[in-house]
Amino acid sequence: MKDLAEVWQLAKADYLKKHGFGDISLKAVLFDMDGVLFDSMPLHASSWRQVCQRFGLHISPDEAYRFEGRTGASTINLLVRREWGRDATPEEVRDIYEEKCKLFNAAGEAPQMPGAEALLQKVQRDGLTALVVTGSGQLSLLRRLESNFPGVFSAEKIISSKDVVHGKPSPEPYLKGLEKAGVRPWEALVVENAPLGVRAGVAAGVFTVALNTGPLPDAALLNEGANVLFPSMQAFCDAWEAFYASIG
Ligand code: MG
Repeated sequence: MKDLAEVWQLAKADYLKKHGFGDISLKAVLFDMDGVLFDSMPLHASSWRQVCQRFGLHISPDEAYRFEGRTGASTINLLVRREWGRDATPEEVRDIYEEKCKLFNAAGEAPQMPGAEALLQKVQRDGLTALVVTGSGQLSLLRRLESNFPGVFSAEKIISSKDVVHGKPSPEPYLKGLEKAGVRPWEALVVENAPLGVRAGVAAGVFTVALNTGPLPDAALLNEGANVLFPSMQAFCDAWEAFYASIG
């Protein structure tokens, strides 16, 4: 078996070749929020299931994970089109999303992802800027970023659904993240748990680390072009020093 440093160096060489970049010179790490910084996906999945029942729509158990990264409006439109054969009206989008947020907030507080705080400390220690790039407009979680990870995410380091026209899988959120950080694609990492988020990071030209923190198979992330995959945030945090030495 190849040792991990070798796997990471090969992944880096593949990445540089694919994009025609000379080297990686890390300055910033762009973190997705749900399923990466907060263990919030089970609550999202169950609130999507409940709101769909209420409005006569259907979502299968793993679709909440497969659709993750889209804006709420985009997910609602997809479900309405599939079920009712037409676009959702703006009122339907508003009502369904409001109800979904209410159900999410009533379900209790999503815990921090184990390993997230420790990894953020390491990233800061190593002089890298950490940003959040999320398709979410969930105010309850966005507000918690500053209080849960003190000194890491001030408002100008957060890109949320209100900052973009096109959510993931468009590269726009990650391109905005690069712009806010003032860095080029080869100076950043994307950390993602969702297939569409991985696709967005890859399309933005950034080395993309997939964390499989949910129920989908690894292939769902690797097939979207993830450069490396870890089985959890804790595993990524534990490997950080060796990984950074191989990649950065
Ligand atoms: Mg996510």
